[in-house]
Amino acid sequence: MLPRAIALARTALVTALLVAAALPASASPNIPPELSFPQEISETEFHSSFGHARSGGRRHQGNDLMAPKMTEVYAVADGVIEIIRTSRLGGRYLGIDHGSGWESYYMHLNNDYPGTDGGGADWAYTIAPGLEEGSEVKAGQLIAWVGDSGNAEWTGPHTHFELHYNGRAINPYPHLVAAMERDAAEQALQRQLETTTMRQSLLAQLPHPVR
Ligand SMILES: [Zn+2]
Repeated sequence: MLPRAIALARTALVTALLVAAALPASASPNIPPELSFPQEISETEFHSSFGHARSGGRRHQGNDLMAPKMTEVYAVADGVIEIIRTSRLGGRYLGIDHGSGWESYYMHLNNDYPGTDGGGADWAYTIAPGLEEGSEVKAGQLIAWVGDSGNAEWTGPHTHFELHYNGRAINPYPHLVAAMERDAAEQALQRQLETTTMRQSLLAQLPHPVR
């Protein structure tokens, strides 16, 4: 991981923890047991903005996961892709049906050829290879890439992420924070294992046994 990426991830984590500490206990119904974080953590910054006012009297129905264009977007849980479409505000988006009333949506996906900002790129730059409506996906699977399609053209690339229960958007923030903490802990453990393995293989190459 790049030093900048580590700093970003740390900032996001600390911010998330501070905000999470200030939140009242979650009142969400039967939350899906464990979400996977929907985007490359080291590149992502986000804060709680569910319900904030938006243009035309709308309310923000999700959280914005800010990250550079073409950052990887992942499925938050096992499910079936129920929709891949374009809308004026949401741009290119994808929705997954997770069963038991749960759905997740990923909006403003990439629509630009690398290094350009004109939109209209082939969908191969939007959705991961082989995926279409009806495809089964697993938690953590690469599904798409971050972009600025729809009305994100003026706010910078991000994924507008929504979590729905029985057809209604719920505040995804506590679930995203919990997912990020789990994934970050897992990555730290993975790094520790790699370091240990590297140390063991170096020791094994020494001419004399080390005690
Ligand atoms: Zn948004």
